[in-house]
Amino acid sequence: MPRQIESGVAESAKSSAAELSGAAKDNVLGKSRDELRAAMKEIGEPAYRGAQLYHALYAERRFDFASMSNLPAALRERLAQRFRIGMPEVSRRFHSSDGSVRYLLALDARGEEFSSESPARVEAVFMPWAGRQTVCISTQAGCAVECRFCLTAQLGLVRNLTAGEILAQVLLALEENREALAPRTNVVLMGQGEPLLNYEPVMAALRVMLDPNGMRLGPRHVTLSTSGIVPGIERLGREKVRPRLAISLNASTDEERDAIMPINRKYPLDALLAACREYPLGPREYLTFEYVLLGGFNDSTEDARRVARLLAGMRVKVNLIPWNPGELPYRPPTAESTEEFRQALDAKGVPAFVRYSRGLDVNAACGQLSLSERGSLVPAIASSSGPSAAPSATTSA
Ligand code: SF4
Repeated sequence: MPRQIESGVAESAKSSAAELSGAAKDNVLGKSRDELRAAMKEIGEPAYRGAQLYHALYAERRFDFASMSNLPAALRERLAQRFRIGMPEVSRRFHSSDGSVRYLLALDARGEEFSSESPARVEAVFMPWAGRQTVCISTQAGCAVECRFCLTAQLGLVRNLTAGEILAQVLLALEENREALAPRTNVVLMGQGEPLLNYEPVMAALRVMLDPNGMRLGPRHVTLSTSGIVPGIERLGREKVRPRLAISLNASTDEERDAIMPINRKYPLDALLAACREYPLGPREYLTFEYVLLGGFNDSTEDARRVARLLAGMRVKVNLIPWNPGELPYRPPTAESTEEFRQALDAKGVPAFVRYSRGLDVNAACGQLSLSERGSLVPAIASSSGPSAAPSATTSA
């Protein structure tokens, strides 16, 4: 049994009761170091207690105050009376034969940060690899972007997630698997939702993930994937702390992209690629372009040559994701067309890797995240035909 998940859920249930009685506690999960320092000062404690609380939450993954051994016992009790740690409830766990686990999570329905009162459910996926694990997380419940090949799109947008709800998915997946954790953790923002349409909470969560005093993840090990929200890409480029950026491309012409990603009518390829060219990259950094191969639609070698022309002169790699057969009216590419596509990019000097989805049997593969109660649905984070630092995820932008 993971160390504190159950107590975190119990805490959540207790705080629900508190809210129903009109005595809601302030949720500390998702708060920054400065916000926690301010919260401690507000209750008459020294500000450094906030930094200790920050460490206990994010570096030690303590989900109840009683277990925060870096705080005095009296303060722990006081914190439990005043605050709560808003962990989601695990509604279901789906275990894949490849070791991946898809979590169906029920989020706090009280909506203190939202106008919506409706409860929300999202999915997160834990994927073990040799020497590392990857956690794929959601940034919104549902999605408004309407990519035609994505089951999440069919949910519509339910609501944005808070920074705490985004962070909780990583904390929970790591804690649930703590006995088997490898030394390195990758996080990919490729589950439900378009991260750049929930910008502030996503950035607040990323700052905690990438903080050496917080969750201590390296910037090269956290990847944000977007469907191509140009103003969001430009804004992200101005941030001091940035994750890696992946762009869900999936087509070689505007006409093709319009047909499967209506967002392209708002931000067509010219504008999208101009923003990508302007995006600041570190010395060893590159942009990742994801390309879901839909058999007979976008998988010709002519498509590959056009993609190479679109990306010419940029420091990139391309992840090719063969379509996963499912409920939507597309067909997978053949093994031959997939390899020809990869070779055509390679011949033009564009590094390309074929990614195969994990978690197919638990609906955790690319484009499958749609709150399925069945044994299958998540992102395509990949086993690959080539070397790669980070797994590629999916259709989920
Ligand atoms: Fe939204 Fe990503 Fe699905 Fe597109 S692929 S509908 S952006 S979740």
